[in-house]
Amino acid sequence: MKIHEHQAKEILAKYGVPVPRGIVAFSVDEAVQAAEQLGGGVVVKAQIHAGGRGKGGGVKLAANPQECREKAEKILGMTLVTHQTGPEGRLVQRLLIEEQLPIDKEYYAGIVLDRVSGKLVFMASSEGGMDIEEVAAHTPEKILKETIEPGLGLQAYQARNLAFGIGVPTGSINAAVQAMLALAKAYEAIDANLAEINPLLLTKDGRIVALDAKIAIDDNAMFRHKDLVGLRDLNEEDPLEVEASKFNLNYIKLDGNVACMVNGAGLAMATMDIIKYAGGEPANFLDVGGGANKDQIRNAFRILTSDASVKAILINVFGGILRCDLLATGVVEAARELDVKIPIVVRMEGTNVEQGKQILKDSGLNFGLADGMKDAAEKVVALAK
Ligand code: ADP
Ligand code: MG
Repeated sequence: MKIHEHQAKEILAKYGVPVPRGIVAFSVDEAVQAAEQLGGGVVVKAQIHAGGRGKGGGVKLAANPQECREKAEKILGMTLVTHQTGPEGRLVQRLLIEEQLPIDKEYYAGIVLDRVSGKLVFMASSEGGMDIEEVAAHTPEKILKETIEPGLGLQAYQARNLAFGIGVPTGSINAAVQAMLALAKAYEAIDANLAEINPLLLTKDGRIVALDAKIAIDDNAMFRHKDLVGLRDLNEEDPLEVEASKFNLNYIKLDGNVACMVNGAGLAMATMDIIKYAGGEPANFLDVGGGANKDQIRNAFRILTSDASVKAILINVFGGILRCDLLATGVVEAARELDVKIPIVVRMEGTNVEQGKQILKDSGLNFGLADGMKDAAEKVVALAK
């Protein structure tokens, strides 16, 4: 689960990372009030679940409340396009109004999971403020790393190594070390799977402050963090994916026009591959799970068919725990209920496959039955064209 910058900063502050004074605003008037309350120069920052906002025009300085009004009017409601949003961009629906801090130097600090070693890695760089992926690609030696041992956590000597390594001046080393240790503590406490401060700021008066913050929380750990559930912003997620998550369906929307409904993530990946192999483009990834029930099938079907770009549907199921007859019944019910006009190709194997096929045939609806995956893919791609 991704969260907004202002939410990430609240969490970091709780664990001892210094952050600028800031107030979230949902309207221009609230933004102006925030600027008055903060006093002095402020920064108007678009809150969307994507980085690169500065370059895209979503971060602007304002010297006073009047300027803050002008900037807020521009940014609030704009469709902000950054290298992370894709060309369609994101609608800005909230702002963070923040005190302006005097920038001396911008560093980078972040934690990611290294899946090869199975450990967290703390990364720090002198090249903050810019795209860390760019730094990694062109000057990887400028990214310093310390592996965090599970159970031990980030050690003070490791934080000192990093702080000295990226060139923090002596007078601010302790502050940088404390901020890094606090970041690591926060990461662990909230079961994050990404936590990034870019830039980690050195102010002209030697303070270390998190000027930007990006946090994602591991969905699988959300049951341990009931207090964080409210941070989810459904406006930032694809509506169909939100709908699918209500029924425990693993659904990801893609750009193509061949919808697929599959049980099991591996089979779903293979199905998308074979659709491409047959010259088509998958409209989604959908794994209804090994033990899907009739309701899930119906809802999955409804979600697939409410995507306007879908021109044909491929149902590819291996009947194990989910029996073929049950799947067929669910699909027939859903197709009737939703009055589906889009052509559907079904390929199934496994438990009760004969009964399943019979149910589809007896339904009087127009299902194409396929013989194996290749045949299924070719048929569905032809129908989508
Ligand atoms: P993004 O990474 O999405 O572009 P940031 O929050 O990193 O957004 O802001 C971009 C740049 O704007 C920062 O690198 C910094 O130079 C400047 N900036 C952001 N917040 C402040 C602030 N409170 N005071 C001064 N400058 C800021
Ligand atoms: Mg940033």
